[in-house]
Amino acid sequence: MEKIKELLNSCGIKRVGFCSYEGVKNALLPCRNLARLPENAKTVICAVFPYKVKDAVPENISRYAAVPDYHTVCGEMLKIAAEKLKALFPENAFEAFIDNSPINEVLALSKTRLGKVGQNGLFIDDKFGSFVFLGEIVTDLDLNVTDHSPTPCLGCGKCKAACPVGLKKEDCLSKITQQKGELSNEQRLLIKQNGLVWGCDICSEVCPENDGKDLTDIAEFLNSYRYCFSPTEDYTDRAYTWRGEKVILRNYEIIKNEK
Ligand code: SF4
Ligand code: SF4
Repeated sequence: MEKIKELLNSCGIKRVGFCSYEGVKNALLPCRNLARLPENAKTVICAVFPYKVKDAVPENISRYAAVPDYHTVCGEMLKIAAEKLKALFPENAFEAFIDNSPINEVLALSKTRLGKVGQNGLFIDDKFGSFVFLGEIVTDLDLNVTDHSPTPCLGCGKCKAACPVGLKKEDCLSKITQQKGELSNEQRLLIKQNGLVWGCDICSEVCPENDGKDLTDIAEFLNSYRYCFSPTEDYTDRAYTWRGEKVILRNYEIIKNEK
């Protein structure tokens, strides 16, 4: 495993853990990438990509939206790592996933010893907290991983108290800001009241598990973060464009023009 960690480190992936495929196979998510999972998968190599660039809170977007598109930045690192692994173990398959993963990422990470799971459902990395993107490389290479029992968070309840929808997943503001089409009056009000055009970090910002955690060391994020969304700026390299620009522009108009 050390050799694999070193290989991933050499691709810029500094935070790496492992869990067995056996431990996650009964919780696979229905998505088109299911077909890409290697036959006889044995190991999930988990990667954590921190994205908090500084302590100050962004103006009208969540922290993950403040940095360049993680599909590109982290996806490229994972792709190169999978290619290097394939060169090292030509008999084995290595499939990289970032977003749209059939693996329940929080479950996988919870078994790695890298961190814990919050009451808000987020993975909280021991080094970087919950401001992290998650990715995986699934392989049929058997590393004989022993899964760790998931560790719970402090359980202080601050996330639930601060959340505008009481941690109800189906009403999550982050999800609403990414929803296409017409929004209900309640949803529009939620966007307006919280002043967020993309994502929501309220439950993470109040979480004491995030106190004193490290900031990102990923150069692509540090060199090109933007703390406020404005329709007049070029935002084509940001993750929110994957929903089409109409969605974020609608949210921007709600905040700017609705009473
Ligand atoms: S705010 Fe408290 S209960 Fe919520 S995730 Fe953080 S530690 Fe857990
Ligand atoms: S992201 Fe926002 S709306 Fe969603 S659970 Fe956290 S605080 Fe609540």
